Amino acid sequence: MHHHDCIVIGGGLLGLLTAHELINEGANVRLLERGVLGRESSWAGGGILSFLHPWNAKDALVPLADWSRSQYQELTARLYAESDIDPEYIQSGMLVLEPEDRQVIAQWGERSDRPVRELSNAEMLALEPGLGTSWTFGSLLPDIAQIRNPRLLKALATSLKNRGLDIQEHAEVREIHQGTHGTVSLTTRTGTVDAERVVVTSGAWSGRLLAMAGIESQVEPVRGQMLLFKLEPGVLRQILLHGDRYMIPRKDGHILMGSTVEYEGFDKSTTHEVAETLRKDAESFLPVLADHEPVAHWAGLRPGTLDGVPKIGPVPGVEGLFVNMGHLRNGVFLGPASARLLVDLMMGRQPICDPTPYLI
Ligand SMILES: Cc1cc2nc3c(=O)[nH]c(=O)nc-3n(C[C@H](O)[C@H](O)[C@H](O)COP(=O)(O)OP(=O)(O)OC[C@H]3O[C@@H](n4cnc5c(N)ncnc54)[C@H](O)[C@@H]3O)c2cc1C
Repeated sequence: MHHHDCIVIGGGLLGLLTAHELINEGANVRLLERGVLGRESSWAGGGILSFLHPWNAKDALVPLADWSRSQYQELTARLYAESDIDPEYIQSGMLVLEPEDRQVIAQWGERSDRPVRELSNAEMLALEPGLGTSWTFGSLLPDIAQIRNPRLLKALATSLKNRGLDIQEHAEVREIHQGTHGTVSLTTRTGTVDAERVVVTSGAWSGRLLAMAGIESQVEPVRGQMLLFKLEPGVLRQILLHGDRYMIPRKDGHILMGSTVEYEGFDKSTTHEVAETLRKDAESFLPVLADHEPVAHWAGLRPGTLDGVPKIGPVPGVEGLFVNMGHLRNGVFLGPASARLLVDLMMGRQPICDPTPYLI
């Protein structure tokens, strides 16, 4: 039997960011990952550092969003310096094509002191010459940023290994119980491990894991499919959004087209129908893509909750057990704030915001 101050279950972005905050507090942390680090939802996602429709965001999520937005650039710069891996934080802006709620977007901008510019067809084409010519108007949100999530995961993992995080891959946690003297006891493939504090950051699988300990958490998998294209760098500069569909340009010319919201259980397969729809939508955004085959197509399972609000905090009834889960479409964006809030609660510090909306 081994003993650790803290064990984090799940090596996605929420697990790594939580471990990062705990290590900053001097804790002795072990991270247990079922497969390999950072290959599930956090890898599959788009890395937009904003709600898709910020003007319609749930009030409960705004404090986390504001905190994350204020920290992201500095966090990624620090990780770049520590790991030599550039997470590519870029304030690329987001151009919303023909939004139905143009007035609502303008009012949100004024209310929240965020820049919004209304653009005509000619102004959009001047900004993005490759854009389809039939889009008649748009709203530009120039302060929206993105990161390249697979690089962020690698930078975090490298920095944390250098700072002493004990990472165990291929170490699925199969059971959670209350141990003796207020510890939490975990059963893995190779035996039992105890810790004073355990954090469940197991993404879409968190609900299933907690259910084994008799805890109902209502986290369910929500599939999202993504297509990837490769063009010359600079063909597109802003993130484009129309309805629920978005396109994200990377620095090296890769372009992501997403996504879908599908309830298919834990099935992570991709479908031909979705590839076709995403492709058609991609061509309407950027007609040059009609001449390019996608270079990749994948699906990820987002961790969804019934009320769309992540769960962050202690688990009632099991001393020492905490969760940081259920971020659905916003885990990359809200991750830094969620991790800080959880560790504030674990350490008994003044929290960065009122934790009440996120408690289970
Ligand atoms: C197509 C798509 C696009 C997205 N776009 C964006 C975006 O633009 N912006 C944004 O903010 N968010 C986006 N998201 C959402 C975001 O990716 C998620 O909210 C976030 O990554 C969830 O992180 P996580 O660490 O909770 O889960 P995950 O990254 O899924 O990590 C959970 C980890 O736990 C491990 N695990 C599970 N069970 C166990 C166990 N029993 N024992 C040990 N380990 C276990 C898994 O193997 C996995 O590595 C997108 C998601 C998808 C799928």
